[in-house]
This record gives sequence, structure tokens and C-alpha cells, in this order.
Amino acid sequence: MKILVLNAGSSSHKSCLFDLSQGDVGAVPQPLWRAALDWTHQPGKVELSASGGGETIQQVLPITDKAKGLKAMVNTLVDGPTQVLEGLAAIDVVGHRVVHGGREYIDSVRIDDRVKAAIERLIPLAPAHNPANLQGIEALEDILGDRPQVAVFDTAFHARMPEAAATYPGPHAWVEQGIRRYGFHGISHQYVAQRTADMMNCDLAELKILTCHLGNGCSLAAVKGGISVDTTMGFTPLDGLMMGSRSGSVDPGILIYLMRQEGYSADQLDRLLNKESGLQGLSGQSNDMRSVVEAMEGGNPQAQLAFDTFIHRLRREMGGMVASLGGLDAVVFTAGIGENSPLVWQQACAPFEFLGLRLRSDLTRSKEDQDIASDNSRVRSLVIHTQEEWAIAQACLALL
Ligand code: ADP
Repeated sequence: MKILVLNAGSSSHKSCLFDLSQGDVGAVPQPLWRAALDWTHQPGKVELSASGGGETIQQVLPITDKAKGLKAMVNTLVDGPTQVLEGLAAIDVVGHRVVHGGREYIDSVRIDDRVKAAIERLIPLAPAHNPANLQGIEALEDILGDRPQVAVFDTAFHARMPEAAATYPGPHAWVEQGIRRYGFHGISHQYVAQRTADMMNCDLAELKILTCHLGNGCSLAAVKGGISVDTTMGFTPLDGLMMGSRSGSVDPGILIYLMRQEGYSADQLDRLLNKESGLQGLSGQSNDMRSVVEAMEGGNPQAQLAFDTFIHRLRREMGGMVASLGGLDAVVFTAGIGENSPLVWQQACAPFEFLGLRLRSDLTRSKEDQDIASDNSRVRSLVIHTQEEWAIAQACLALL
């Protein structure tokens, strides 16, 4: 079975093709083909990169229309040096990452008109993501006709959270309005939780796992018996941890203050909290953890404050997740920062030594998933490379 996976964002699209006809479906196989579109660098143009069959191409195309860009990208599957298929008819199913599934979709689903209408209806809850996801679905419909398409939701894994964890303590009307904690990064949290159980040779149903997805966006999940019972992102992906350019949780009174005293509009607050805060805002340097650490090590006090605040917030929220779990078997790090920063692993875990969590002294990054806890640690700590595309492909396989 050949599964095309599409992760369509507002300014970039990533895609890959898995062939599940051969080999062990339990292991993570290399995709046959991988491609990306990036609209951020050159006005009026798109950067297309693709690799397949041992070849890689990089092109800049004069295309602004997202659907046309997708067509050019998918074409590299069947044409040119990266060709891996005789024709697009070989694709059996397309899996889409869809950010918001609201309360309706708590599992992956085959896409039909009803599902598309729901994704559209949920646009106010995910204005930066759901429109792009829907565009991706419609573009692939144009290219592949009535080939089955599957939506895999980033919110779905958190949909079984206890009501008390999902509820914001505003007026009761919020409950009916759907103003609640949805949580995001669910595909990643679910994948790394299952992988943790596999690496520990344990049944996921028996484990209490704290998963830390630390990329440009950052979130934690408390995974108890395979179910997300708490998470730090909320109604939107702005809640919780400090992130690359997002503030995470701040006193809502600050927003009222800025509106009253400085006349901020909703759009200005949106930009301030989503684009001009976090590592970027505090350091004044960059939203990239590597640059912040470099500046901090060079003695830059703003970068130092940004790093220290990032760690403080991370530890504080980790403590909250441990309380929601009522115990702790493993702490797991994933995504760009989580997979690559021994400094963050050490700093994040240090206050939890009293729970019996001890890391090895020889910490280094690895391309492989690894256990970074010392032999005598009561709690394991794992670094797992998240495989969201593979998780989407598996969801398609399970559904069809
Ligand atoms: P996204 O959420 O956009 O998918 P990623 O998961 O790729 O983001 O994570 C991006 C973050 O990972 C950036 O802050 C980047 O600095 C960080 N990162 C990547 N490599 C390293 C590294 N070697 N050390 C520390 N941070 C890293």
C-alpha cells in the first residue's frame, strides 16, 4: 500500500510517500520520497525541494497559488530525477495532518463532505492552520480525484482528557461555547508515548509518561495508561510553555492592561503574543534555541534571561503534569529542542532528582532514539525522534 502524507501549513507544506507493501509495518521505514514547499523566503515565488530514488532537486518556481505549488510538488513523484512512481494511480490513500478536530473528531476519519465542512467550521478556533489543511485536502482531490483521504487530527489524542483538566474556570457559558482546553501536537505525543512503551518493553496501559514536545511550538502531555489526561496547550496553541516566538501562558490581566492603557487591538495582541514573544521576544535575538544559547554563552544578559525563563516555565509545567499523572515512569523529550539539546535535558530534569530521576553524565545527541537516564534512575528518561508523518501513515492503514 502506498500512502501519501501531507502536512499543509500556512507558509510551508511537507509531504512524503510511504510504501507499506514490503517490510515490517511495525518499524519506521524511510519514506520513498520526501518533498517540501516554502513560501516564506522569496516574494511571488515558492521554493520546492524533493528527494526520491537517491536524487534530490531544489527549484524556485514563480508560483503563488498554493494548489498549483502542491501540483508541482506531487508531480516530482512521477516526473524528473526524483520519480519513484510510474503514475499517480499508484497512490492508494492520502493522509492529512489536520490541526483542529474540535469536539467532534476524537479519532482519525475518512474525509467526506461532512468532515470538510467540520474542518471549515473550526477555522475560528485554528485560523492559522485549518484553512491551509482544508486547501491541501481540496488540492489533492483535484489532483487524485476520489482517492480515499484521511484526516488525522492534532487535537484527537487529547480528546479523552477528564473534564476538570479540559475546563477553563470562566463562566459556565464557556462550557457550551466550546471554550475549553483542546491541546495540540497530539500526533507527536501519542507516537512518542507508544514508542516509550516499546523501548521500555512495557505495556503502554501500565505506564505514566510525561511527554515533552519542544520545538518552535512547545507542549507537554501527561499520558496515563495511553490516554492524554492533561496537556499544556489549550483552547489555542498559545497556552502553556514559553516557545520560540509565542509567550505561552501569561496573566490575562496583562492583556486587559495593554488594551486599556495602550489601546492595543486584537490583531496587535495576536502579533505580540504569537510572533514577538517567547525566546524571540525576551532575547531580542532569535526564536531559535541554538542562537539563544550561543548568545547566552557569549555573555548576553537578555539571552540568559530568555533561556532561564524558558527552563523555569518548563520545570513548573512538568511539575504540574506529574501531579496530573499521580506518579512518573518516564520523561520523554522530542522535537527540535527536545531531540537535540543535552543542556535542556539536564536543566529540565534537575529539580526532579527527588523523585528518583537521574540522567547519565555523558549526554550527547544521537540520530537514534536513546535512554538518557542513569542505570540507577528510578524514572526513565528517553529522547525520541518524533515521526509524525509515519504516525499519520499508520493511522491511514488502521482506518482502511
Ligand atoms: P517546528 O515546531 O517548527 O517543527 P522543530 O521541531 O524543528 O520546530 O524545532 C525547532 C527548534 O529546535 C528551534 O528552536 C531550534 O533551535 C531547535 N534545535 C534544533 N537543533 C538544535 C540543537 N542542536 N540544539 C538546540 N536546539 C536545537
